[in-house]
Amino acid sequence: MSTDLSAIGEDLLLRRMNERIIDCKLCPRLIKYSREIGKTRIQKFTDEVYWAKPVPTFGDPKAKLLVIGLAPAARGGNRTGRIFTGDSSGDWLVKALFETGFANKPTSVSKDDGLILKDAYLTAAARCAPPENKPNPSELVNCSEYLKSEIKILEKTTKVVLTLGKIAFDAYCKVCNVKGLKFGHNKIYPIHNDKTLIVSYHPSRRNTNTGTLTWQMWINIFQKARSIINN
Ligand code: SF4
Repeated sequence: MSTDLSAIGEDLLLRRMNERIIDCKLCPRLIKYSREIGKTRIQKFTDEVYWAKPVPTFGDPKAKLLVIGLAPAARGGNRTGRIFTGDSSGDWLVKALFETGFANKPTSVSKDDGLILKDAYLTAAARCAPPENKPNPSELVNCSEYLKSEIKILEKTTKVVLTLGKIAFDAYCKVCNVKGLKFGHNKIYPIHNDKTLIVSYHPSRRNTNTGTLTWQMWINIFQKARSIINN
C-alpha cells in the first residue's frame, strides 16, 4: 500500500500547531474564563471533567472545505476539548456536514465519538471560549497567528472557505488581506488562488431559534460548497 507523504506532512504540521494551541497563554482573560467555567459546572454536565483550556481544531489534513467559526462554546468545546462538539452550533454544523458528505456521522458529542471529517477542517477565529461569545480585538489578533498557519498548511487543497458569522468573516479577511467584501448570509466571492469564499450567519441559538437562520438557509450553504468542490 502506498503512503501519501504530503498528507502526513500536513497532518504533522496541524498536530504540532494544536500542541502549541493547547499550551497557549497569550490571552489571560480567556484562559481565566475557560478555567472558571470548568469549575462552575451545571447540572447537565455535573459529572464531567471539563477540558477548560485552549481548544484544538480538527478535521481532514487534506481538506477542500475550511470552516471558520467564532470560538469554542463555554460548555461545548471548552467542556469536550474539541471544537464544535457538545453544543447546539456543533449539532447544526455536523448534521449539515454529514448530509453533504463531509462527515461520517451526523452528531458531534465528545472527542472520542468516532466522528471523522472527510474533505473538511474546522477552526475558529479564537480558540478559547470568551465571555458572552465576544473575544476582544486584541485576543483576536493574538489568535489570528494560528488561523494564518492553518490556512497556509491547508492552502494546497482548500477550494472553499466558509466563514460562520461576522467575527469569523472579519478574521479571515484580515488574515488573508482580503478587502472590500461585505458580510451577509449566502454571499459568495471568488478569492485568491481560484478559491471561493462563502459567507454565512453563525448557527448560534440566537440565529437558529429566531428564524434568522433556518435549516434550509443553512443546508443550502453546504450544498453550494459541495457543488463547488465537485466541479
Ligand atoms: S484565544 Fe488563541 S491566542 Fe488567545 S490564549 Fe486562546 S489559543 Fe492563545
